[in-house]
Amino acid sequence: MFDVIIIGAGPAGLTASIYLARSGKKSLVLEAKSYGGQIINTLDIENYPGLNHVSGFDLATNMYNQAKELGATIKFEKVVNIKNTTKEKIVITREGNEYKSKAIILATGNEKRKLNLDNEEKLTGRGISYCATCDGAFYKKKIVMVNGGGNTAIEDALYLSNIASKVYVVHRRDTFRADMKTINLLKEKDNVEFIYNSVITKINGDEKLESVEITDKDNNKKVINIDGLFIAIGAIPENENFKNVVNLDNSGYIITNEDCHTSTSGIFAAGDTRGKELRQLVTATNDGAIAANEAIKYINNLE
Ligand code: NAP
Repeated sequence: MFDVIIIGAGPAGLTASIYLARSGKKSLVLEAKSYGGQIINTLDIENYPGLNHVSGFDLATNMYNQAKELGATIKFEKVVNIKNTTKEKIVITREGNEYKSKAIILATGNEKRKLNLDNEEKLTGRGISYCATCDGAFYKKKIVMVNGGGNTAIEDALYLSNIASKVYVVHRRDTFRADMKTINLLKEKDNVEFIYNSVITKINGDEKLESVEITDKDNNKKVINIDGLFIAIGAIPENENFKNVVNLDNSGYIITNEDCHTSTSGIFAAGDTRGKELRQLVTATNDGAIAANEAIKYINNLE
């Protein structure tokens, strides 16, 4: 029996495990993929107070090691169901294990949003990628396209502009939501071409990606030959497995109050998976600390 089971080993979940360990509570962190969440693919973080420049991988690895050294148990298993009884919470994993706890913190983050076009799945890994820092090196002196207008897209395009011979940036509006500093750096690059007010409507290729069809807001279409397509159109929560135990909003985010309480007593949500305005590294770690603190208070009340 654990005091708290934390689902997700991104910045929110790892922060929660650090706080729980330091308060003497026994926690289990369950993670379906690798630790670190979305920052694992961020090359350079410069908005985390006090660290100036840090790679997402290094920061995530430090958080992971810190949690382990403080005594957190971390297992790589995917949670498929939660049962909430009056006595205990039961967490069931795809790997066939059942774990019991007094409280749960849901810190499952987000999944990359897909374009949902024909060929997208088939050509993923064959010219289509969702991670420039993972796959960018395959496109040395080649022609690539980035789709999206947020920080991820603009940072990806900047990164790729130093590798590829040409980078198209396709965005559905004519203004970006990324921060101005990064946009300005990208605009200085002479191998970057911006295509505004446009969406990708077709992905062409048999064995590998060959071209995409772009459609603008006046319904004009054109086909552009590219070697690589980096899709960076945001992320969506994957909370289907938890909708039997917590209330979700219309977009699938977990509804909480500002202290990370969900609709169910003893189940808390932290980080990008909960409904909130600002999803950043700093707000995820902030949530992790708050959720841990609330879980500790909840457990102490039970006792
Ligand atoms: P995001 O900010 O949600 O941006 C997603 C972009 O994709 C938006 O420009 C959006 O267009 C576009 N989009 C969404 N759905 C689309 C679709 N179906 N077809 C075409 N375009 C679509 O996502 P993100 O860039 O991944 O960033 C997520 C969060 O992480 C943000 O808070 C971001 O600031 C943060 N982040 C921070 C850093 C950093 O600080 N270093 C780095 C990466 C990410 P619209 O603009 O028209 O909505």
